[in-house]
This record gives sequence, structure tokens and C-alpha cells, in this order.
Amino acid sequence: MVKAELDAAWQESLPGTPNHHEEGGWIYQMTTGEVLTFVRATPGAPGDTYMSLANPPSVPGFTLIATYHTHPVLSSDFGFPEASRDDLLHSGYTNVPWLIRSENGIESVGPERLGAEPYGVWLHGYENNRVDTTWCPANRGGG
Ligand SMILES: [Zn+2]
Repeated sequence: MVKAELDAAWQESLPGTPNHHEEGGWIYQMTTGEVLTFVRATPGAPGDTYMSLANPPSVPGFTLIATYHTHPVLSSDFGFPEASRDDLLHSGYTNVPWLIRSENGIESVGPERLGAEPYGVWLHGYENNRVDTTWCPANRGGG
């Protein structure tokens, strides 16, 4: 489910085209179960390599467990598919994994990342992760 959403965001970010732009948002898990919901953030501007993941909306009954965004500039176009310095920084601020979908697939950075299958295994172990989304440190920026 997470992989499908990240793949959709990747396609919508028009990788390798002049109108490439970052797509992404926030992933929430139902507080009493494993039901997930995705909330998209405002996409980045066409041709730009930035989007804001500031101020995750509060979703009643759900907890913020991760953010996600795309890096649509291909390495063949001198892009940087890997997580940026800001991505690493902000994942620390937000205390949730930051998932990045690029031409290389899905990369997870930040706290308690769990190896080769981030979209498959990171759900477990976050049951006690509670982020106050009414004032989330993510409002310090994006990446
Ligand atoms: Zn990034």
C-alpha cells in the first residue's frame, strides 16, 4: 500500500521531463490498528527540486508515522536521487522515517529505519511513536 502510493507519486512527479516536480505528503496510521491513510502535500513547482512537508495536518484517530516525497530529476539529468542533507536533517526533527521515491526505488532515512524493505517493515515498532501534529517540527521545512 505504501509502495503503491509512492509509485503513484513518482509517476505524477513526471520524472525525466521538463515539468518534473516533487510530489509527496504524509503517512498516518490509525491509532488503534494498522490502517493507513495518505495525505498529499502541495506539490513542488514544475522544474523545481523542493517541496514543503511543513505542518502535517492533524488527522483525528491517526498518528503521523512517516513522510514521503519524490526526487524526480534523473541522475542522467544531473539530479540527485539520494536523500538530501535536508531530508536527513528533517527526518531527525520530525522523528519519523522519511521515504524518498526516486529512479532507484524507495529509500528510507531517519529514525529507526529498518533496512532493505522500508515500505514493508517499518510499520511495526511505531506503535508508541506519537507525534503532535498540531505543532510538528516538520514546519521547519522540507527537502
Ligand atoms: Zn528530498
